[in-house]
Amino acid sequence: MSSIVTRFAPSPTGLLHLGHGFAALTAWQRARQAGGRFLLRLEDIDTQRCRPEFAAAILEDLAWLGLDWDGPVRMQSAHLADYRTALESLAARGLLYPCFCTRTDIATAAGAPHAGDATARYPGTCRRLDATERAAKRATGAPFAWRLDMERACASLAGPLDLTLDGEAPRRASPEAFGDVVLARKDTPASYHLCATHDDAVQGVTLVTRGEDLRPAADLHRLLQALLGWPAPLYAHHRLLCGPDGRRLAKRDHAETLRALREAGQSAGEVRARLGFTL
Ligand code: GLU
Repeated sequence: MSSIVTRFAPSPTGLLHLGHGFAALTAWQRARQAGGRFLLRLEDIDTQRCRPEFAAAILEDLAWLGLDWDGPVRMQSAHLADYRTALESLAARGLLYPCFCTRTDIATAAGAPHAGDATARYPGTCRRLDATERAAKRATGAPFAWRLDMERACASLAGPLDLTLDGEAPRRASPEAFGDVVLARKDTPASYHLCATHDDAVQGVTLVTRGEDLRPAADLHRLLQALLGWPAPLYAHHRLLCGPDGRRLAKRDHAETLRALREAGQSAGEVRARLGFTL
């Protein structure tokens, strides 16, 4: 039995750029150097933004870069019933509530400077609805998201949660910073946080490698693992690649897609070397 299982889990919402190449190589190399397994998962539950042609391009571009993966590619869209089961388990324990607020409602209630500011912590408006108000809102057919009641969720734990980041001493996880996080959006059946944590557990991932931007998410994912009885992997966060303007690469940076580099005549070896990997 090999001891390490890593994964790369892009969303097929665009072509992979150099930053994705770096992330994929990081996970792949950690697995291969340890004689472990490297898995590929496509996080494609957002049907508005994900496209099959980007999914196909991801596989092609990773293979071109010299990566191979173990077992079939997992498509999240094929597992919606499993995410629903996880949500139902939380709901049955009274840890979720429906939230009917719009982004503007939330920003207004939180006093955020910009309407629709998605970073605003949810002020708890719908948590405070009583059963009659909640039932009346649901009866109108208004769309709603499912939010985790963070205070109740933390209170339901047997004790404090330890979180281990690669190369660091274990520390206490503090998911409270997320507030009442959305676990199923109005327009998608489950959130990134729920699906990624679920899949890491069922796929037996032991080492989650991903960008620094997702470092805070580990605290929330640790909570979901504890609530849902899933094992806790080790987390390693890698640096984010920036473009010439100093901003981190994003899918809008078409010039830096793996495909554009290939079409411009760069070899996979050159791209790997540019990213600091010698296979
Ligand atoms: N689909 C997520 C992304 O592309 C994956 C994050 C993760 O590795 O957990 O950012």
